[in-house]
Amino acid sequence: HPGIDVNAVRRNFPILSERVNGYPLVWFDNAATTQKPQVVIDRVSYFYEHENSNIHRAAHTLAARSTDAYERARDIVARFIGASSAEDIIFVRGATEAINLVAQTWGRKNIREGDEIVLSHLEHHANIVPWQMLASETGAVIKVIPVDDSGQLLMGEYTKLLSDRTKLVSVTHVSNALGTVTPVHAIVEEGHRAGARILIDGAQSVPHTKVDMQSLGADFFVFSGHKIFGPTGIGVVYGTEEVLADMPPWQGGGNMITDVTFERSLYQPPPGRFEAGTGNIADAVGLGAALEYVERIGIDNISRYEHFLVEYATAAMKKVPGLHLVGTAAQKASVVSFVLDGYEPLEVGKALNEKGIAVRAGHHCAQPILRRFGLEATVRPSFAFYNTCEEIDRMVAALHQLSADAGRR
Ligand code: PMP
Repeated sequence: HPGIDVNAVRRNFPILSERVNGYPLVWFDNAATTQKPQVVIDRVSYFYEHENSNIHRAAHTLAARSTDAYERARDIVARFIGASSAEDIIFVRGATEAINLVAQTWGRKNIREGDEIVLSHLEHHANIVPWQMLASETGAVIKVIPVDDSGQLLMGEYTKLLSDRTKLVSVTHVSNALGTVTPVHAIVEEGHRAGARILIDGAQSVPHTKVDMQSLGADFFVFSGHKIFGPTGIGVVYGTEEVLADMPPWQGGGNMITDVTFERSLYQPPPGRFEAGTGNIADAVGLGAALEYVERIGIDNISRYEHFLVEYATAAMKKVPGLHLVGTAAQKASVVSFVLDGYEPLEVGKALNEKGIAVRAGHHCAQPILRRFGLEATVRPSFAFYNTCEEIDRMVAALHQLSADAGRR
């Protein structure tokens, strides 16, 4: 396939040589977490072998090395998502902590009783629960953008939800349960016209599609490192200079202050103000290496190849008798969710695992959208650019077998 030499790419990921139940591993659980290329594993090892120190420009050399490596990672993140400054990038544990940070700092300061927070029916629990917690604290009201039967947002309904009570719109860029790519540009534009701030959950979009903060124009954008070939335990809040400057700190402690007395503390400017205590230095550095790796492959090449994989898988899966796709929006990324007549999703997942094929089976931390389709669970293969048509063929063959056996059970 043009753009991606998949055999060469696969050699960059040591875990793809694992065998499971006697078969070569097929990793189709990329929406849950992605595998790590050797350059990321090596970069984290190099940090501990040659650079490890807490970050502070103190007297010694290793502190300078670790500080440089950590701040360089921040620069790479800023470049990767098109932020105007590295100061717009806050390191956190992941998308979940990122959304909680925004809810607890920006939210507590700006949300009052009767204010409205607009979410969509597609959201991951990480973009629902923090807002419910804030709403129950403040008396704010949550409104939900509904979806059509394909799993795409009903934008006309979105328009109707917006009013001068809308203080925040927080919507995913790509649904982790269905793969729907949402019209984020229009969401941001309309939300801003209503005077709201906008948060875009990029956990499922950054690994698959180009994102650019300048053209997107959102106030906040969040993602997790582990879903874009980086380590676990590291993620990002992007916020514009304007919103971050006006946000109070969340956690208090070392690093986030400029001066402390028993009477009061003075806080660092962003992003330091939001990074209390010793952060996940090594894994931030590893995330920087992951993003540089993705830049070398080329996110547009990745997008094109994965689009091809999704189309290939969708066409083949439609031919499996009794298989029902869940989520059929025209714009989709990476995910092909389904149910199979005669089986619980978990049974399908276990049967595929017998053949070395790893898929998620469950509610995908997105119960509201599955219930919208009358389901409690689906089977969810999700692809990355190291996956192949042969792997999809193996999965589809196993599904045909299950489908044929269903009647005999
Ligand atoms: N949002 C979306 C759309 C996700 O898919 C996920 C992870 N499944 C999250 C948020 C939460 O990410 P994390 O668990 O890495 O904090």
